[in-house]
Amino acid sequence: MSKKAVVKKMLGLYLKNPKELELKEFPSVHSLKDDEVKIKLIHAGICGSDVGVYNGKIPHATYPVRPGHELLGTIIETGELCRYEIGTRVVVGPNTFCDECEYCLKGQKNICVNKSSLGVNMDGGFSEEFVISSRFIMPVPDYITDEQAVLIEPFSVIVHALEKVQISKGTSVAIIGCGTEGMLAISLAHYLGANITAIDINQEKLAKAENHFAGLKSALPTDVSENEFEVVIEAAGVGPAVIQAIDIVKPGGDIVLVGMAPEANLPIVRIVRKEITIHGSIIYSFPMDFEKSVKYLAQENFNAEPVISKILPFKEYEQAYDDAVSGKYGKIILNFKEEQ
Ligand SMILES: [Zn+2]
Ligand SMILES: [Zn+2]
Repeated sequence: MSKKAVVKKMLGLYLKNPKELELKEFPSVHSLKDDEVKIKLIHAGICGSDVGVYNGKIPHATYPVRPGHELLGTIIETGELCRYEIGTRVVVGPNTFCDECEYCLKGQKNICVNKSSLGVNMDGGFSEEFVISSRFIMPVPDYITDEQAVLIEPFSVIVHALEKVQISKGTSVAIIGCGTEGMLAISLAHYLGANITAIDINQEKLAKAENHFAGLKSALPTDVSENEFEVVIEAAGVGPAVIQAIDIVKPGGDIVLVGMAPEANLPIVRIVRKEITIHGSIIYSFPMDFEKSVKYLAQENFNAEPVISKILPFKEYEQAYDDAVSGKYGKIILNFKEEQ
């Protein structure tokens, strides 16, 4: 008697080439190896880097690729060596590390020379289910909502970045760019008691920041003057924002570059004369920065609410991508829950 396995079909989103999105069915059969887990998605955020991969603007991206790396889901199957239980709600640390290179050995896994990034140069998680090594997952405590949990990964970028500088009560901080990362930086700086000026070219984003954070000042790039801020966070990712950061930071101040401006013509003499420190900051330490994120997100007076603009059903991915690509919104979340 032959037993025919029932092959369950899953839906996954793929980019055949830049700008060619395709929703495809694929068989969910997969025998899990070693410490692998199969995760059923709950929420997934569309990141600026997903937009970059979509637009063909990320040099190390490979196609075809299944995008998506801001992932929250539930473990539904485990390999033999996996130490987590089925039913555990988890987030994914979507950048692999080798644990062997010089940087990994120093604990700087975020700059591992053998790093691969989910959804960029290996398949990501915009699918109903996906499989990953349990080295790259972190359980999420029950006191965090799904909406908070899906922000753990993008917020870890900010937790990592803001640790490069001193921000405490009364520190004057300018945040350039009020997209997702900028808004998360505002949330954290606000929580830490900073005097914040949010800078953007988009008046709606500025109004949103002002409405949600008591005491925050907002400004168009043309409205800020020289030597005003002890710390400047560049989260716009464009050359002119980096130049402006150098202009508006106080002598002896710090600039943290979170955005990925491809290039800028830097006024080196000013940097030297003002004795500015410029910090590059890339992703985070996993899972340490994820754990710190959870702690902040769980605080009652930590306000991440203005970060998420829309939650759309997974099947409305075209709308979701249009919205994300437009740059007009904050975070767009794909919802994989069945009861919608
Ligand atoms: Zn991201
Ligand atoms: Zn490494």
